[in-house]
Amino acid sequence: MTAPRPRPEVLKIDAYVAGESKLPGVNRIIKLSSNEGAFGPPPAASAAFARVAAELHRYPDGGSVELRRALGARFGLDPERIVCGTGSDELIQHLCHAYGGPGTEIVMSMHGFTMYQIAGTYAGSRVLKAPERNLTADVDAMLAAVSAATRIVFLANPNNPTGSLLPQPEVLRLRRGLPADVLLVLDAAYAEYVEQPGYDPGVALVDAGDNTVMLRTFSKIFGLGGMRVGWAYAPAGVVDALNRVRGVFNVNIAAQAAAVAALAEPGWVERVRAHNTEWRGRLTAALTAAGVRVWPSEGNFLLADFDTPARAAAANAALQARGIIVRGMAAYDLPHCLRITVGTAEECTLVAEAVAAFMASARADG
Ligand SMILES: *Cc1c(COP(=O)(O)O)cnc(C)c1O
Repeated sequence: MTAPRPRPEVLKIDAYVAGESKLPGVNRIIKLSSNEGAFGPPPAASAAFARVAAELHRYPDGGSVELRRALGARFGLDPERIVCGTGSDELIQHLCHAYGGPGTEIVMSMHGFTMYQIAGTYAGSRVLKAPERNLTADVDAMLAAVSAATRIVFLANPNNPTGSLLPQPEVLRLRRGLPADVLLVLDAAYAEYVEQPGYDPGVALVDAGDNTVMLRTFSKIFGLGGMRVGWAYAPAGVVDALNRVRGVFNVNIAAQAAAVAALAEPGWVERVRAHNTEWRGRLTAALTAAGVRVWPSEGNFLLADFDTPARAAAANAALQARGIIVRGMAAYDLPHCLRITVGTAEECTLVAEAVAAFMASARADG
């Protein structure tokens, strides 16, 4: 009766379940559950990480100045309009707390990234999920969910876990349909994997006004998920708000050094993207040939549809028996699906073989 109790919002949150990384009794694990880079970290980032080992007694640069400069140079952006975070997750949290709160609403799409729901609920906002069309965000449904209480609309583009991309004209239509005082957060964690012509990760809309934010991360194509570095490109007012509330030394000294070095690794993004495009296609073809519906993806993962939750669970178990870990999708209201990260050529081949064997035995069982 007398133990300390958290705010009621906290107990409404289902804790985020990260991708599994271990299977009991299995020696070689093939981890395709968290959309991590297929090739490990960029070698220059590992070297930079090792070099800072002698500097660990120093506080990091609280402004991440060198990293913001490197990002500005790489992407042609003003470093003053960039805020770095402990992963983009930290920035999602701060945006929800800074712009949301009790009495406000946050809108996301039905199968959008669950961090928006967790962070929004924690902030005290009511989080509304707009229906999708063909597992793609539906602009009309999102606009219909907006009310006078709405403060933020989140859109992951491409979306995780569906892989779907909202075409740029639709993103522009979403922004045009929103009240000017509603913050649109475009989460482009998978931007570098996109092959669709005309894609803009959000830069144009950030530049066009004072109410759109773009989020990016080092956790995906740059292979630094363990370092926790993300960044926002945002209008001056949002930059100011984030800098008031973020952890003073949020991005640690090793993470800053590794991220700067990752940006300088020659040819890294081009190589990883080319591999991903090739093997995303090959894996899609192999799973489709095995009788599994695969949703079109612009990310480094595929959403594989096994028709029923029971069959998805059985497929998951069959993969785990071979040491292959993918992601169950019950938390995303897609219990009949599994999300599979595009790994190395060998990993893709093994997961395709395992799914084909499972589907063949499922057919034999009727
Ligand atoms: C992986 C991912 C992120 C990145 O999170 P970090 O905190 O930067 O590791 C953000 N948004 C989406 C949609 C993601 O899939």
